[in-house]
Amino acid sequence: MSDYRLTPIGYITSCFPEKFGIPRQPLLAPSAKAYLSLIPPFNDPDTVAGLESVSHLWLHFIFHQHTDKPWKPKVRPPRLGGNQKLGVFATRSSFRPNHLGLSVVKLEGIVIDKQEVVLQLSGVDLLDGTPIVDIKPYVPYADSIASAVNDIADVPPEHVPVSFSQQAAHVIKRYYQEKSIDLHSLIVEVLQQDPRPAYQAAKSSKELGRVYGMSLYDCNIQWRYDGHKGLEVIEVLQQSV
Ligand code: SAM
Repeated sequence: MSDYRLTPIGYITSCFPEKFGIPRQPLLAPSAKAYLSLIPPFNDPDTVAGLESVSHLWLHFIFHQHTDKPWKPKVRPPRLGGNQKLGVFATRSSFRPNHLGLSVVKLEGIVIDKQEVVLQLSGVDLLDGTPIVDIKPYVPYADSIASAVNDIADVPPEHVPVSFSQQAAHVIKRYYQEKSIDLHSLIVEVLQQDPRPAYQAAKSSKELGRVYGMSLYDCNIQWRYDGHKGLEVIEVLQQSV
């Protein structure tokens, strides 16, 4: 049996410094921005010649935060509430042999400056620092299959309403003025997926009031589940001020 070695061609810098809150698939949060910096010898502008004609990319990446975790034949996808098991190859679980991930993302721009080749991306589901091992253009006529079926994940997860405290709204507004980053849209798109662990979301009545924290960019976001009102963002703290 042959063994193969993969070499990163570049690394992701993303709005997600930690795993909690990252959408479970790409394009669910269009405001989730990242850039991919190619490293030598792949940072030759020739490697991306023609890519400006493409709107979306497939990124092959390594689930680098899980490379020390063993894979198991069956996993519990959060999509099924966390209490049903499926074969690892029937899921997109990040705990898998070879730790390979695959995401389709929007290509917003290409910046070439001397020895730097940077791809600007949106709609990512990638942790900051993710190693990318290959890039391929999305090919609409071949990759978009109108008749495709997946009875386990046939429609996107239902959205829950998201509201903001005055403090949170104030910091988000200031953040936009200072950095031109639309934290409001990002938080809504992330939280409306309800990132709570499935086993906690399942016993919602007992979870009322529990405060969760997640990081986006350099901000810590505190939020809680507020019953039928959905998720409320209580506090946004910018860590580097
Ligand atoms: N779209 C990809 C795929 O299908 O291979 C990823 C799907 S996986 C279910 C998405 C989750 O992977 C995210 O919610 C995040 O928690 C996790 N993730 C993203 N980047 C990661 C990384 N570099 N290492 C470990 N986990 C990561």
